[in-house]
Amino acid sequence: MLRGKKVLLGVTGSIAAYKSAHIVREFIKAGAEVRVVMSPSAKDFVTPLTLSTLSKNPALTSFTKEDEGDVWNNHVDLGLWADLFVIAPATANSLSKMAHGEADNLLIATYLSAKCPVYIAPAMDLDMYRHGSTADSLSKLESYGNKVIPAESGELASGLEGQGRMAEPENIRAFIENDLAKGLPLSGKRVVITAGPTHEPIDSVRYIGNRSTGKMGIALATSCLDRGVQVTLILGPTAIKPEEHPMLEVIRVETAEDMHRAAEAHFENMDLAIASAAVSDFRPKDTSDKKIKKESGTPTIELTENPDILADWGQQKKGQVVVGFALETDNEDEHAKGKLERKNADVIVLNSLRDAGAGFGHDTNQVTIIDRNNKELKIGLKTKSEVAEEILDFLVNEWIH
Ligand code: C5P
Repeated sequence: MLRGKKVLLGVTGSIAAYKSAHIVREFIKAGAEVRVVMSPSAKDFVTPLTLSTLSKNPALTSFTKEDEGDVWNNHVDLGLWADLFVIAPATANSLSKMAHGEADNLLIATYLSAKCPVYIAPAMDLDMYRHGSTADSLSKLESYGNKVIPAESGELASGLEGQGRMAEPENIRAFIENDLAKGLPLSGKRVVITAGPTHEPIDSVRYIGNRSTGKMGIALATSCLDRGVQVTLILGPTAIKPEEHPMLEVIRVETAEDMHRAAEAHFENMDLAIASAAVSDFRPKDTSDKKIKKESGTPTIELTENPDILADWGQQKKGQVVVGFALETDNEDEHAKGKLERKNADVIVLNSLRDAGAGFGHDTNQVTIIDRNNKELKIGLKTKSEVAEEILDFLVNEWIH
């Protein structure tokens, strides 16, 4: 949600300003470009150098560049640069100035110049927070369309207990990400995605596995998150770690049976279910809890069938759109269409192992999307992220309304 966004952080003079360094880190971690503007008294609590270093941009504190004397920090340019303006911490004093347009410092002048969404995280002692004048400032600012991130309760710097603590940096980020998601086309939708391989234990050290890395499923999860979808990602054993996101729940599993259990538990309330995992079709019937010794002779491993997650979703669906993947080596089209029917899926994404750059482990993929209305869309070789976007576009155009 924040990837590539230009975020202007306004810091005012509260003890909570020491947390502004963490706020900058949260935004940078989320992929945003960050600039910082500080009120004069904020400098008493956190140094501009700290925030310049973390944001990789000079933290601005006054209308003129202090060491260059006559260079003007243009508040209008700064305000227009921002995609989002986050004022955290916001003191009672700065809230009042913002509410009344008292532009006697760079931060407030920038606030008045900004046309982008503004988020305000107040921070003050509980009696100041409760005061009618603070409530008036906040309701006035809300009436201008600014979003207030409520202060949290707990121990305050004064030693008192109550509401007034600035929201924690990760909660500020989550609040903003959730708010931005509300305006997105698939906002409020929910998806469950299976991804990665499964490991089926033979003994305490060996397993049957496959070469899947989960990259395609993780790319689909990212694409869903970017469109405001709440994602449950059921991820098999892979070294790849999805980036944290407030709307992403990751459930790590090892075996097909674990994955099946998680998939069953998370299907009912979904709008969309995508089976992109390379689930092992079979597992060893018996598993030894000790390492099988070579001296005992060559073992024979008897296999038994694993549950088919996609087919079970296809059986149970009540309004959910069910999407599967088919990795084929021959008669690709025919096999993929057969799978669509047999598993009662709505859409199947076919990739052929005969295409260079497609399938396991690659950063690219080449697929054909086929649905049960016989619509087909061939996607040329693209990155897995681009393929995920194409799949989501197809689903939005044809299936999710
Ligand atoms: O039958 P096949 O394994 O080729 O089907 C592939 C599709 O079925 C993929 O979407 C895969 O995630 C899903 N699948 C599953 N559970 C299994 C086997 C495959 O969900 N046990």
